[in-house]
Amino acid sequence: MIHIKEVTKIYPSQKKQQEVAALNGVSLEIEQGDIFGIVGHSGAGKSTLLRLLNGLETPSAGSVMVDGKEISRLKNKELRQARQKIGMIFQHFHLLWSRTVRENIAFPLEVAGKPKREREEKVDQLLERVGLTERGDAYPSQLSGGQKQRVGIARALANDPAVLLCDEATSALDPETTASILRLLKEIHRETGITLVLITHEMSVVRAICNKMAVMESGKVVETGDVNMIFRHP
Ligand code: ADP
Ligand code: ADP
Repeated sequence: MIHIKEVTKIYPSQKKQQEVAALNGVSLEIEQGDIFGIVGHSGAGKSTLLRLLNGLETPSAGSVMVDGKEISRLKNKELRQARQKIGMIFQHFHLLWSRTVRENIAFPLEVAGKPKREREEKVDQLLERVGLTERGDAYPSQLSGGQKQRVGIARALANDPAVLLCDEATSALDPETTASILRLLKEIHRETGITLVLITHEMSVVRAICNKMAVMESGKVVETGDVNMIFRHP
């Protein structure tokens, strides 16, 4: 599903500082249906990797294939179409604050040009799926953190993506809310077979939900494999 091959990402130097190699020869294979955790300290290169996966950045070297397409080579319409099949959720949710929950979830469907009736049906389904049927007309500022992330998840799933990228999706939430969001992601995974990629600085999140993982340090993958193998004590 995702093939990352020998990827290097160098950000141009700012002022007189040295260039930063945010990623340095990273290779990773993520299979369809994996729940793949990428852990590492701040600055390890996790966000950069995620931005490469959804085409927000292009690699300085190497290739990034997602769902059979080399994402870094796509342009305009092709890139937009590919990105509709890659959902993303964020630590701070990135909701549209002046729009209701329904409007937030409908937004990617509008961008995709779906007719009104189809949008409304889909939004109803998604609201039910994330347990927010009663909150469709609320504004994000009226919701708890967990509810906001549920809206984020519903919006990310609107165009039935093959992959859901989760960028520190539970890091702003308390432990109980984190557990409920992880439960929801697991259920969605079971029902749809979606590939989940989670970046997190919390090992506990990986242990709770992932089957495979990679550990990143200073722009490199230093360990990768089955979560059970990596956490098994000798
Ligand atoms: P993580 O998500 O693991 O915290 P990042 O991918 O955000 O790591 O950052 C990896 C490295 O790249 C860090 O040294 C960071 O300062 C640098 N970096 C990230 N984004 C940019 C950018 N847009 N411009 C310059 N340097 C960046
Ligand atoms: P965090 O998760 O770090 O607390 P959030 O993005 O969730 O950050 O925002 C914190 C609070 O501020 C939330 O209650 C949210 O409703 C409100 N808020 C954030 N951005 C805006 C905005 N652009 N307009 C109105 N309210 C906002």
